[in-house]
Amino acid sequence: MAINLTTYNQVLQQLAPYNAKLVAVSKTKPVADIEALYQQGQRIFGENYVQELTEKQPVLPADIEWHFIGHLQSNKVKYIAGFVSMVHAVDSFKLLAEINKQAIKNNRVINCLLQLHIAEEETKFGLDEGELIQLLDSWQQQQQEFSGIRIAGLMAMATNTSNETQIRKEFHQLQEIFVKVKERYFASQDYFKERSTGMSADYQIALEEGSTMVRIGSLLFGERNYNK
Ligand SMILES: *Cc1c(COP(=O)(O)O)cnc(C)c1O
Repeated sequence: MAINLTTYNQVLQQLAPYNAKLVAVSKTKPVADIEALYQQGQRIFGENYVQELTEKQPVLPADIEWHFIGHLQSNKVKYIAGFVSMVHAVDSFKLLAEINKQAIKNNRVINCLLQLHIAEEETKFGLDEGELIQLLDSWQQQQQEFSGIRIAGLMAMATNTSNETQIRKEFHQLQEIFVKVKERYFASQDYFKERSTGMSADYQIALEEGSTMVRIGSLLFGERNYNK
């Protein structure tokens, strides 16, 4: 079995004082690995690929909370809208509107996180602060039509670097934007509370900088065979 249970329990212990949640990132990993962690009590699993998720979901326990953490194309929302609990990487108004539409069709409310671009790398998806404000203004103007989604917080990925100062600075930046957005748009909405930051290599820094949800894959399931 590829699951590292000692590490799993260690991670849970590290999260506890922060009251943070663990998203176990199971992309590219077999159903058996997910079942093994499920048996330990893990309920939140994260996947990046629509096809892979739609294959795994029906054969696994119904009380798993599926989080879609990868880049999601609008035309694929319909395949996961019937069961997905949270979409982490919403980076356009168009995508938010499509998730809303498909959620309403399914008589559901889907939690969404807005993805911020905080890393130095050009290639990473996400909104800059100005684009985030624009998106939220549009959403606010049409709020009564958005009954299928709940904006539950922000998500970001730090630069892939061993420079801890750099990573900390980026997570700190996300935290500052979170506070601003909370005050301006969600002051009285308790559900706007999540900061989805931190992966295997940097989750400890993320926790220190305000993360409420860490997304950990390789540390729990072992290295992925191909770079997806
Ligand atoms: C794959 C992935 C993770 C998990 O990465 P690890 O380094 O394996 O922990 C977290 N977040 C996103 C968005 C991912 O794509």
